[in-house]
Amino acid sequence: MVESTFQGSTHSKYSQGYSADVDIIREQEYPLLNGTTYLDYAGTTPYAKSTIESFSRDLTSNLFGNPHSMSVSSQLSTQRTEDVRVRVLRFFNADPDEFDLVFVANATAGIKLVADSLRDSDHRGFWYGYHIDSHTSLVGVRELAEMGYQCFQSDDEMEVEISKLASNQSKAPRLLAYPAQSNMNGRRLPIRWCEQVRSATKESGGNVYTLLDAASLVSTSPLDLGPSSSAPDFTVLSFYKIFGFPDLGALIVRKSVARVFERRKYFGGGTVDMVLATGVQWHAKKETSIHERLEDGTLPFHNIIALDTALDTHERLFGSMANISAHTEFLAKQVYDRLSSLAHFNERKVCQIYQPHTSTYGDSHTQGPIIAFNLCNSRGEWVPKTEVEKLATVQDLQIRTGSVCNPGGTASSLGWTGPELRRHYSAGLRCGDNHDVLGGRPTGILRVSIGATTNMKDIDSLLNFVEEFYMEKSPPIVALDPLTEDNEVVAPHFYVESLAVFPIKSCGAFKIPEGKRWEVKKEGLAWDREWCLIHQGTGAALNQKRYPRMCLIRPSIEVERGVLRITCGAIAAPDQVSLEISLGWEDTSLISTSFCPSSSKKPTTVCGDRVSLHAYTSPVVSAFFSDFLGVPCTLARFPTQTSSRYSQMQRTPNTWKNRFRKLIMPGSFPPDFPPPIREGGQTQITLSNESPILIVSRSSVNRLNETIKANGKNGSSKTVAADVFRGNIVVAERLAHRGDVEQPYAEDRWSSLRIGPDQLRFDALDACQRCQMVCIDQFTGIRRAEPFSTLAKTRNIDGKVRFGKYSALSPEELEGFDSELPDRRTVMVGDVVVPSYQDD
Ligand SMILES: *Cc1c(COP(=O)(O)O)cnc(C)c1O
Repeated sequence: MVESTFQGSTHSKYSQGYSADVDIIREQEYPLLNGTTYLDYAGTTPYAKSTIESFSRDLTSNLFGNPHSMSVSSQLSTQRTEDVRVRVLRFFNADPDEFDLVFVANATAGIKLVADSLRDSDHRGFWYGYHIDSHTSLVGVRELAEMGYQCFQSDDEMEVEISKLASNQSKAPRLLAYPAQSNMNGRRLPIRWCEQVRSATKESGGNVYTLLDAASLVSTSPLDLGPSSSAPDFTVLSFYKIFGFPDLGALIVRKSVARVFERRKYFGGGTVDMVLATGVQWHAKKETSIHERLEDGTLPFHNIIALDTALDTHERLFGSMANISAHTEFLAKQVYDRLSSLAHFNERKVCQIYQPHTSTYGDSHTQGPIIAFNLCNSRGEWVPKTEVEKLATVQDLQIRTGSVCNPGGTASSLGWTGPELRRHYSAGLRCGDNHDVLGGRPTGILRVSIGATTNMKDIDSLLNFVEEFYMEKSPPIVALDPLTEDNEVVAPHFYVESLAVFPIKSCGAFKIPEGKRWEVKKEGLAWDREWCLIHQGTGAALNQKRYPRMCLIRPSIEVERGVLRITCGAIAAPDQVSLEISLGWEDTSLISTSFCPSSSKKPTTVCGDRVSLHAYTSPVVSAFFSDFLGVPCTLARFPTQTSSRYSQMQRTPNTWKNRFRKLIMPGSFPPDFPPPIREGGQTQITLSNESPILIVSRSSVNRLNETIKANGKNGSSKTVAADVFRGNIVVAERLAHRGDVEQPYAEDRWSSLRIGPDQLRFDALDACQRCQMVCIDQFTGIRRAEPFSTLAKTRNIDGKVRFGKYSALSPEELEGFDSELPDRRTVMVGDVVVPSYQDD
């Protein structure tokens, strides 16, 4: 454990000006932050308890009517809305005589409103320039810029553009946009650009507008719109980033540019004085104020009223945005200094921080409290971000990863060019997927962001996490168990300890009874992962990682009765419910759906690949699962009799089409949409059949548990059952002689194995990549930190956490497969297992 190297809590900037020490505020107002390390304030700030409580009191003691009316309740809403509008303007030091505030859904909606209006304002459309550090929502404006656009790759390019404006002869509208703070690395950009643009265009009469995206800045900094002559023409922000609640945004407009909105084409309820609905196409727009012309439809008046209480609470707890700025800047510098000093035993740095070269942590003019970085091992190789994510999840550390909605900032930090990214996209790279490192370079970043309620403990937890799991204190010991290297040792006696299938993907196991031989098919054990649950809205397969209760859905196969019996609820719980479904194909209809591989992400699978599934149409079936999980879902079955269900589907889509009525999920691609081209991989695992047969070694589980116990803080044992690894075959060793010891991880070196009296041959494939799903207790559905935390330390192979071995029936067994009797290929609990080793 590292102790904070600095007595932060006594520093003058820490909690400066707050109503109490930040720890006390947290205890009273932010109980949801207990027991977790929340470092994603740039995503959203959490809301204070008081805000919600006083909002609730406000709503329960007042009748608020729809603002567009004359009734008392309506007038109350109108009056409160107008008061809040002025209050918010003052919060940003914007004089209500010179600025107007338009309520919008969020910052993005504000940006879009400006872009739409500018497009309508001139028949030529407009020209658009944006800074490379822009959020995706600013980048998207370029699609509306009919006169072209430019992305400024640096501040210098931006400033050159501004200096050229004076001699610009064109009278067509131009819009220049940039973020006040990068949401990726927290860099703060100069507000003065807006003033420079204005003075450069004064002579030529203007028609050049500035749009400041303040969404990231305002969560931890004051925004002073000051004299309107130097302010941006348009400023957008989202309130949830400042207060946590309400979900609402604002567009602040300098009144002197109101003309931009005069030709906006659309009108909605509330923005017109009179409309002729038939006959002549005529309407009279409201002319009183900018906001009245732009706020289409009924305002989110309850949200606006909530803003009042949010402002009250915020002011009471933190005093001012300047206090928050000092507090967060101080903590960000701590994080920066401490992360950048971490080094491995060989003095290589643990963290590569993507620090903008124009800014300094600790200087609130140039840098906000956001740190973007990646981790490296002692050989200088990148740690895949999804591996960090998984471990962060089980350690209750909440950070953001990926390209964090800042495409220009991340690409330029990581050194990717446009053509390279296009190539990766064609090869299957997608936002939010698990292609972490391509060609030796990371595709995304880790982002830590700090807010008003971050405390020193959060910072210590973050540093502890990085030190414990990613800082190598000594050279890695390449320790194959000496025994397995020693050829003199008598071959141990392996046997099948238990057998299980998972008839419904990601749900509970069906343990194959002892004494019963179970058929092995080319795609795995019979009935394994034959079904799955799909979300009725998205069509995606559900997984236990997201819905841990799925392990309490326990299917069993009753071949003799021809039924799949499903029981939901904890074992022996009184409220268990059951459902029986025929093993035949009745009651299903074919659908095409996107499918995200769940537990064992394969590098060759693209999330969102189209697959065809037979969904059960009966409302009884969907209600059974939906009620238990609290998620609208239903059961679906994979098409049958295919070695690779996916490729079979691709080859013969027409037969399916003819045989079944095709039901396309809303929003889905056409069923014949070509699958993305994949790089040829050496992975031998077929696509739909993500996990042919998973073998777990009892000896390895035992070793792992010993390690967990040995490292367990204050002796608390958090050992795990072999079930968490969801293996099909658990192989154990029979120790023949006293003094014999088990051979954990011997399976790493298996090349093939023969099982049972007929010596059925299986080829060993890849080791199984693990995620935080192994932390779900399969009997209770409760998530814990182990065994993933210990696995991450002890079983990290090429940057991935691995445990267990995939295997598949050897091709030699498959010869003449269809003609022979199937029964020959079976396994049973107690069967002898004889492995061959790679180096034999
Ligand atoms: C969060 C953010 C946005 C988008 O905000 P929404 O609420 O999603 O519209 C835009 N720009 C920046 C800099 C942000 O941080």
